[in-house]
Amino acid sequence: MTNLRERLLSWYDRAGRDLPWRRSRDPYAIWVSEVMLQQTRVDTVIPYYHRFLGRFPSAAALADADEDEVLAAWSGLGYYRRARLLHRGVREVVARYGGLVPEDPKARRALPGVGRYTAGAIGSIAFDREEPIVDGNVSRVFARLFRIDSPLGATATTQRLWDEAEKLVRGPRPGDLNQALMELGAMVCTPKGPDCASCPLTSDCRSFGTSDATRLPIKATKKPPRRLSLCAVVATSGRGRDKEVWLIKGRAALFGGLWGLPISDAGPKRALDEAGLRARLRPEPSDRITHVLTHRRLEVDVYLATGAKPIHDGPSPYSAKSLATVGTSTLTRRVLSLPAVRFTQGADLAPQWASG
Ligand code: SF4
Repeated sequence: MTNLRERLLSWYDRAGRDLPWRRSRDPYAIWVSEVMLQQTRVDTVIPYYHRFLGRFPSAAALADADEDEVLAAWSGLGYYRRARLLHRGVREVVARYGGLVPEDPKARRALPGVGRYTAGAIGSIAFDREEPIVDGNVSRVFARLFRIDSPLGATATTQRLWDEAEKLVRGPRPGDLNQALMELGAMVCTPKGPDCASCPLTSDCRSFGTSDATRLPIKATKKPPRRLSLCAVVATSGRGRDKEVWLIKGRAALFGGLWGLPISDAGPKRALDEAGLRARLRPEPSDRITHVLTHRRLEVDVYLATGAKPIHDGPSPYSAKSLATVGTSTLTRRVLSLPAVRFTQGADLAPQWASG
């Protein structure tokens, strides 16, 4: 008689995808992959994972890099706070542990950016320790498997999910067990149409054959994103091939400290003033775009300005080509590719424009 754990592992051995990070037991590489995979699809992450590890093959190499280099390598993946925290965490690993990610879970949890999920993923996959993980996929599988009827995000639900994960991870191959749970959520027990006919856990699942298989999990109630009206200014100098756009380090709260266009909620002139730029501003906006961040919905009027000159330190000029060497906000990249702006047309930015 096999139990749930064994059924899940043997399904994973048979059906699990061959993903690049699954070939590694290097805690640093696992850490990078787990951070990238938060809120980003596997297909999108794969090329970034290869490029990032090619550029920063060890914790020491990443710790040595400056933040702009790290953000440039992350450019296009979105959620840049993840990259900055990873960088800080890795620097601490180098400073305190000689570049070796600590095996002790308490020391791992104390690193910047390493929450319970990331610590558990590194602990179980890289160190073969019985440490649980709960992410969106695992939450969905558990809600159906154990018929958990309370909303995700509620304290009692979170506690119950971690308790179940903790019980299940005990035993052989804890890292594979955790990955099998996530894989089941990604491939079989999917949000809208769970493929129960292919599931190895039908005999364990309390929702199997009932409407609960699609009704659960009960979603957390979300606040609608706050609307914000902004003006962004594409301020350029030079012409033709020498044309450059002036960028500033963006507001950390909105754009994670990446390079971005001058932007303000008090009009285009104020955007230029605050950026430390003087330029000939066209009176009317050239376009308007809507940009949705996690908690905010930005309605952005896009203005053009020419003959830009800095009036103090801070703003920097970039050609369409040199933009690829710095971390730029997704909003900035979207604006610069608008037909009305046309700044990046023909520039070789393709690898960094994949998503986000
Ligand atoms: Fe999900 Fe269906 Fe498997 Fe239950 S039987 S865990 S609902 S796929």
